[in-house]
Amino acid sequence: MLSTLDSTVFVSTIACRKCGVIGLPVIATGVGPHKFKGSCGSCGKFAIWISDRSPQEKAARSEASRTAAMASKPPSRPQLDYLRALGDEQTPPATMLEAAERISALVAGKAVNQ
Ligand SMILES: [Zn+2]
Repeated sequence: MLSTLDSTVFVSTIACRKCGVIGLPVIATGVGPHKFKGSCGSCGKFAIWISDRSPQEKAARSEASRTAAMASKPPSRPQLDYLRALGDEQTPPATMLEAAERISALVAGKAVNQ
């Protein structure tokens, strides 16, 4: 039970899909990649998987994954069209990330110039 958990967990109230009770989940050790599991405090039905990462850690990991994915893909057609519409005359960007950064810089520059 909780006495065996040595991590801080971040939970919010849940609405049980079985009995409809709204409340904090009962936390227990998770299974596989899931650190903890939360069950309904009323009927005991499984409700959610719970991470031991803080919301800030989760956001940072998500952003890092997003950046890595964008760096591995070619720019999208809409990005290339938007760059052209913004007046970009450089060689086309090699990646989606480079296109996004270039678009951000051009948009920021336009905002400053207006
Ligand atoms: Zn329940």
